[in-house]
Amino acid sequence: MKYVSEFRDGSLARKLASAIAKEARSDRVYHLMEFCGGHTHAIFRYGVQDLVPENVNFVHGPGCPVCVLPVRRLDDAIELALHHDVILCTYGDMMRVPGTKQKSLIKAKAEGADIRMVYSTQDVLKIARENRGREVVFFAIGFETTTPPTAVALLQAKAEGLTNFSVFCNHVLTPPAITHIVRAPVEPGETPVRIDGFLGPSHVSSIIGSEPYEPAARDFRKPVVIAGFEPLDVMQSTLMLIRQINEGRHEVENQYTRVVTREGNRKAQDIVASVLELRREFEWRGLGTVPESALKIREGFSEFDAEKRFTISAKQSREVKSCECPAVLRGVKKPTDCKLFGTTCTPENPVGACMVSSEGACAAYWTYGRKRAAGAVPRGAAA
Ligand code: SF4
Repeated sequence: MKYVSEFRDGSLARKLASAIAKEARSDRVYHLMEFCGGHTHAIFRYGVQDLVPENVNFVHGPGCPVCVLPVRRLDDAIELALHHDVILCTYGDMMRVPGTKQKSLIKAKAEGADIRMVYSTQDVLKIARENRGREVVFFAIGFETTTPPTAVALLQAKAEGLTNFSVFCNHVLTPPAITHIVRAPVEPGETPVRIDGFLGPSHVSSIIGSEPYEPAARDFRKPVVIAGFEPLDVMQSTLMLIRQINEGRHEVENQYTRVVTREGNRKAQDIVASVLELRREFEWRGLGTVPESALKIREGFSEFDAEKRFTISAKQSREVKSCECPAVLRGVKKPTDCKLFGTTCTPENPVGACMVSSEGACAAYWTYGRKRAAGAVPRGAAA
């Protein structure tokens, strides 16, 4: 498949592996954070970690939109669905994420809430057109990649006068999160995570471009390489980062030139800016409150803002205490440091969001069978 198979070529992977081994200095460790869960999954799925020297350490970042959503916002969505007689629509990954007391949207659906899984915002608009007598709320989550379709849906709803449609907006932004991470948010007693450089987001960057990472790279002296999601993309980006670190450079480089430009997709950016604006701050699971790191609906579209349309008052929200998702998302702990990994917590019975999401680090460790707890066997695998 064009643009896929050539980036999974085994002989090229071996060449890149030997180039990395040659350039990685043996007298130091390279701590490279892959921001996106998509990169974490590529690293585990294709065994990239085994193709690089042991002193190249991939630190998993918070780039999983489902994982970083704080439990309070999920509880709010469950409350909306259960107590406001709405049709709540959301993407599939959200359905099984446990909220307070392990309540999820799928459990709320089993209790009678009208919750529907959608593939696009166009599906939500269709549901709203077909159910004009009911309120239809889109539970919108995601980084900059999924924001433009939400903005387009808001514009379409306004143009059509679709008065029963609204959005519970939880879109978050990548560059402020990277800045926040390099400022090293740690909990009391935690050792700050060491990061020498970032494998930067690929799909997100197709929208925002590579330019927004430049201040963090410059101010914190951390190189960033925008990396595609195929294994050779990740390996080449790793090599580019190691070169920058060896040469004392801290620039934003773009490995994913087949998709990403410095300025990004201006049309998509303009559409988003016409409908959504910065929140003063937003709470992230794991990172805490991050200034100017999320978007809300502009005043001119407030009739479509579910937070203004409904009084949402979810009870006291609580994370599962023994779930290490917050520390995993900060890169401070690996999934296998969690006592529940592979025992109480598996994809079939997830305790935390990082095990549910297709981009979660715990799901990556489990799915690709790496460092699985002894004796625990995933569904479908030979015992
Ligand atoms: Fe949370 Fe499960 Fe991951 Fe542990 S293994 S950090 S409980 S999601």
